[in-house]
Amino acid sequence: MDCKGVVSHGNDPKRKLKQGQAHADLIRVIQELVQALPIPVKFKYVKGHQDKHVPYRLLTLEQQLNVDMDKLAKKTLKRAIRRKCFITSTLPLEKVRLTIQGNKVIRSPTDAIYDSRGRETARSFYCTVKKRSKSEEFFKPRRKKVRVKPADFDLIDFDSLDRAMTMWPQMFRVFYTKHITGCCQVNHFKNVVSKGAISAACPCCQHPDETTAHVLLCENPTRKKLYHESVTKLEAWLKRRETDPRLATMITSYLRGRSLRTMKSCTTGRESDRSRYYRLATHVDRLGWRNFTEGRIPCQFERIQCKHYHRIKSRKSSRKWAAELVDQIFKLTHLQWTYRNNFLKHRANDSAETVEEYESRMRRIEEFLEHTDPEDLLEEDRFLVEEYNLERLAAATSTKRIVYEESADSAIAAAKHARVRRTLDALDCTVDDELQMSFFSSPPGRPPGRGGRGGRKRRTQRNDLEAVFSE
Ligand SMILES: [Zn+2]
Repeated sequence: MDCKGVVSHGNDPKRKLKQGQAHADLIRVIQELVQALPIPVKFKYVKGHQDKHVPYRLLTLEQQLNVDMDKLAKKTLKRAIRRKCFITSTLPLEKVRLTIQGNKVIRSPTDAIYDSRGRETARSFYCTVKKRSKSEEFFKPRRKKVRVKPADFDLIDFDSLDRAMTMWPQMFRVFYTKHITGCCQVNHFKNVVSKGAISAACPCCQHPDETTAHVLLCENPTRKKLYHESVTKLEAWLKRRETDPRLATMITSYLRGRSLRTMKSCTTGRESDRSRYYRLATHVDRLGWRNFTEGRIPCQFERIQCKHYHRIKSRKSSRKWAAELVDQIFKLTHLQWTYRNNFLKHRANDSAETVEEYESRMRRIEEFLEHTDPEDLLEEDRFLVEEYNLERLAAATSTKRIVYEESADSAIAAAKHARVRRTLDALDCTVDDELQMSFFSSPPGRPPGRGGRGGRKRRTQRNDLEAVFSE
């Protein structure tokens, strides 16, 4: 026998098999046979394929028998493939047989159950539109339409996606999941969560609805340039990995079309279902742009690349190629995310605001200006609402905006302070400490109950603010 694993299992037929043992069913049959035989059996290791280096006549009897057996097995296998005539995978002497959805488990049962369960969860996630229960915060349908039509689900190469995800670090997998479910920092989601307080517009191109699908299709000129550059890099990767040239052209043309082209229009050659390229294009178009860019590519990609590797006599693995292709395609989206977030968090200098800080500060100022009645403020602070407007503050520098916001907060606090003081005076309260404790939080380092009533007179803010704005 030329397989050391089988030799060791055959010589020790009572040894338990490991959980992830490959071809466990065949090994179990061998073990059963060895145990049932009335004579002792000893398996001996023989180096395989010796006839490649040594003439057949010079081989030992064991080596000659091994070569004969190989030839017979290959001939039988080829005939079976040609005639499409196979035996069933039900082997004699099997004590336990595990079948999941019609497929016999020959490796790890845990992995097989996990994979089958995962596939069903994915099917229900991609192929159905569930309504949230009314007790939940948003009882709208999650999506208007399914991401994958039930009939197209089995076209997707989930094995490659799975292999690509295994290559990624944990946090990248979390990022991928957040992106495909839409529960991420896109403004569309923030708008829903904040119940409309945050605008859904794209921060880079002002598109009215920044969804996860928009991330890749943003019309901001720099982001478009970045996208095309990353497609060029993907093209170089396809070449390095000896991709089928027609396949490489189809992928890059489709990606350069940015959802405006169909895969069929990127295919050259015969438009017939007999052409595997045309069949592949049909599958990509059935699944659509979103599935493609999120790494849910048809199985046909791997099959075509496998044939190509075979044709050019390459020993590269097409399965690894497909997993890396998924990774490369999803990197386009990741690069857009990185750019978008750097854009939002960019600080021109130490005192400048980022886009995010600017937007949230302007939101707070807008709220202050809209919802504050000048009559509610102290007389010396009313100028904050009466003399300043949103346009002037939006155009001002970060420092001016920050000083203005601080002044506004201070004005609100002072007005509240004065109201409480009036109330206390009206009650003619004498036990100051007890009453004040509930209204005034004491400054740090000082015992509670001091300050407040009869404290120092507040400096007017007007001169300070005007000094900053006139700079
Ligand atoms: Zn945009």
